[in-house]
Amino acid sequence: MNIKNHIDQIVANVVAKDPDQLTFHQAVAEVAHSLTPVLERNPEYIKQKILERMIEPERLITFRVPWQDDKGEVHVNRGIRVQFNSAIGPYKGGLRFRPNVSVGMLKFLGFEQTFKNALTTLPMGGGKGGSDFDVKGKSDAEVMRFCQSFMTELFRHIGPNTDVPAGDLGVGAREIGYLYGQYKRLTNEFTGTFTGKSITWGGSLVRPEATGYGTVYFAQNMLATKGDSLKSKTCVISGAGNVGIYAIEKINHLGGKVVAFATAEAAIHDKDGVDDEKLNYLKDLVFVKRGAITEYAKKYSKAVVLPSGKKTWDIPCFAAFPTAAENELDVTDAKTLLKNGCECVSEGANMPCTPEAVSAFEKAGILYAPGKAANAGGVSVSGLEMSQNSVRLYWPREQVDAELQKIMKNIHDTALAAAAEYGMKGNYVAGANIAGFKKVATAMIEQGL
Ligand code: GLU
Repeated sequence: MNIKNHIDQIVANVVAKDPDQLTFHQAVAEVAHSLTPVLERNPEYIKQKILERMIEPERLITFRVPWQDDKGEVHVNRGIRVQFNSAIGPYKGGLRFRPNVSVGMLKFLGFEQTFKNALTTLPMGGGKGGSDFDVKGKSDAEVMRFCQSFMTELFRHIGPNTDVPAGDLGVGAREIGYLYGQYKRLTNEFTGTFTGKSITWGGSLVRPEATGYGTVYFAQNMLATKGDSLKSKTCVISGAGNVGIYAIEKINHLGGKVVAFATAEAAIHDKDGVDDEKLNYLKDLVFVKRGAITEYAKKYSKAVVLPSGKKTWDIPCFAAFPTAAENELDVTDAKTLLKNGCECVSEGANMPCTPEAVSAFEKAGILYAPGKAANAGGVSVSGLEMSQNSVRLYWPREQVDAELQKIMKNIHDTALAAAAEYGMKGNYVAGANIAGFKKVATAMIEQGL
C-alpha cells in the first residue's frame, strides 16, 4: 500500500463528509500528513484503522440554550459538546463562547486537545465545547442566565470521571463560576467536574497563569537546545487575555522584554517594554475593568496604537508568541518576522499560524512550537487541579509551578525524541503529533473496538 495516497484519501474523505468544517480539515491534514513515517513502520495502525477512528468524535452533543436578556427578550443559542476521545482518560477540554463557534470549530479544537492532553503525561482524553453566544456587551446577570441555561442541559453529559470542561475564549472565571454553580445545584454534588475554578472553591494555584507560563517555558526549553535563552531578548505577543498577559509576566521573570501586544481590536507598540508595573495596570484594565487596551497607550506616553492593518508581527523581535486565535498569523506575517530576525515562535493559542506560515518557519529552520505542545500548560494544570480535587487538598504555588515546568520540559523532550526517531530532527510539529498519536493509538488498540 502507498501510505501517502492512503493518508491523502483519509483527508479527502474528511473534507467530503463535512465540507464546511474548514479548520477541522486543516487540523486533520496537518496531523495526518506528519504521521506518514509512523504508519509506514506500524502496519497495525492501518489495519486497525486508528487514524480513521481518531478523526471521528466518540460523541457529539448539540442542544438548545434559551435565555432572557435584561429587557425580558428571549434569545436562543446553540450549545455544543464534542466528546472526542476517551482512550486515555475522561474527556477534557474547554468551553468557548464566541459568535463564530460551530461544530467544525469545536471538532478542530477537540481533535487537537486529544493530542495535547496525551502529551501532558496526565490521564485525560480530549473534548471541547461551547456556544455561539457572545459574552461581549452582556451584563453579568445576562451572562449568568445564559450559563445557567447552558448547564441545565450540559450537566447530564459531564462528570468528574466522564467529562471535565474548563474555560477557553469567552469563558473565564466569571463564566466558570456561574456554570459550576448551576452544575452543583442540579447534581447536589461538589466534585471536580470543572477546572479553572476559583481558588477558594476547588481551583488550583497557577491555573490562571498556566497556559501563558507554559508557552514561555516551552520556548525556554527550545532555546536551551541552542544554548540560548530569553534573557535580554525582545518579544512580541498577540492576544491580551489570560494567555498573553501571563506570557508577558513569565517573559519578564526570565529577563526578556515584550514590546508589543494586541487584541482583535487593537495592537500596542511599547518600545520600552511592558515592565511589571505596566503589566499590573494591564491586568487591572483587562481582568477587572474589561476595558480596551488602547487605554494603555493613553496612560503610557511612549506606547503607541499601531495603525489599522498593522500587527504585532510587524515589530522586529527575537521571539514571537501568538496567543490569540486560530489562523491569526499568516505567511506574510511569517515572512516579516523572519526578515526582521525572529528566531523562535511558540504558540500559546490553538493553531494560530496558518499552514503556509508554518512551512515558512520550517523552511527557515527557526525554532517553532505548535500549540498542542506549547500551550499544553493550561490543561496540564487543569489535570493537576483534578488530582487535588480527588484527594481534597490544595498544593502550594511552588509545587504546582514545579510540576508545570516538569511537564513542559517533558513535552518538549518527548516531541524532540519522537521527531528524531522518525527522521525529522528538530521538527516539533511532527514530534508532537507522533508522540500524541502513538500514546492514544496504543490505548485504543489495547481497549479493542
Ligand atoms: N482551553 C484550554 C486549552 O485549549 C484549556 C483546557 C482545559 O484546561 O481543560 O487547552
